[in-house]
Amino acid sequence: MALNVQAYKTEVHNNWCPGCGDFGILNSIQMTFSQMGLEPHRVALFSGIGCAAKTAHYVNVYGTHTLHGRVLSFATGAKLANPGLTVVAVGGDGDGLGIGSGHFVNTGRRNVDITYMIFNNGVYGLTKGQASPTLKLGVQTKSLPQPNINEGVNPALLAFSAGYTFIARGYAFDIPHLIQVVRQGIEHKGSAFIDVLQPCPTYNNLNTKDWYGGLDRKDGNGKALPRVYKLSDEGYDPVIKPGTPADEASQKISKFIGKSLEWGERIPIGVLFKNETTSNYGERLAKRFPLYQSEPPALREIMDAKGRPTADLTSFFEELRVT
Ligand code: SF4
Repeated sequence: MALNVQAYKTEVHNNWCPGCGDFGILNSIQMTFSQMGLEPHRVALFSGIGCAAKTAHYVNVYGTHTLHGRVLSFATGAKLANPGLTVVAVGGDGDGLGIGSGHFVNTGRRNVDITYMIFNNGVYGLTKGQASPTLKLGVQTKSLPQPNINEGVNPALLAFSAGYTFIARGYAFDIPHLIQVVRQGIEHKGSAFIDVLQPCPTYNNLNTKDWYGGLDRKDGNGKALPRVYKLSDEGYDPVIKPGTPADEASQKISKFIGKSLEWGERIPIGVLFKNETTSNYGERLAKRFPLYQSEPPALREIMDAKGRPTADLTSFFEELRVT
């Protein structure tokens, strides 16, 4: 049952710049939680460092504003300790794909059941607009003295290589669509990655709301020709299910690669890839440690009524004994 969206709002003063795409993403997160009826005390939202990372302060659920590039470590730990939680991690493209790229890759390999949203604006907004890992080679935003000297990474393709089993792209100023995407990411039982196109009007004067909306190019009737379009409008089917024939799966992967590379004139948003055939990390742990399923770490009693520890580590230390 849906809960009132007010339940997910906080009183913390919001200091994002006027017109920032972060506002649309924040609203989408709150409205997704509301529409899914997720009780605030059953949700944990973690963030790294950067403008996007302030989101953790603005959503009334459990969570932590963590360290630069380290958000996925916190989110993974929380989910594995308490699998009953809905865990969402957020951060900027600089945070997640620069210093955090090792964690980004290894979270995909584990296929932990969490949702990771990158607010992708091509710059390090919090520190005055340096080029971030997603800014393409040769691009010069107004915050750069010279064109970008590095090639940009493709977040969707990197996520696929790493093993993420749900890969999507959203747009900060299409909130109804982003809500659907975030909901699907949360419902997916594995590592879900959502690359959210997020205009930063303060430092990125190229990938703006007007540019995504195609206001710089118009048809013969003076109507804007938006760059962003929805994959669902084309009948795109991203899902590989148990039983999908190998050649069909290969075709879907080829289409996914094509859509991930599409940029400029047309930019697809929606679910790009979904693989339902791979076990997630919680399932792998439960197979190896049967107790994990019935008594995950956060639900275990650690002391008796008198505060004495109840854990008996004898067998663990025996395993470590060198003979
Ligand atoms: Fe948003 Fe950019 Fe301002 Fe950061 S610097 S709050 S990303 S507009």
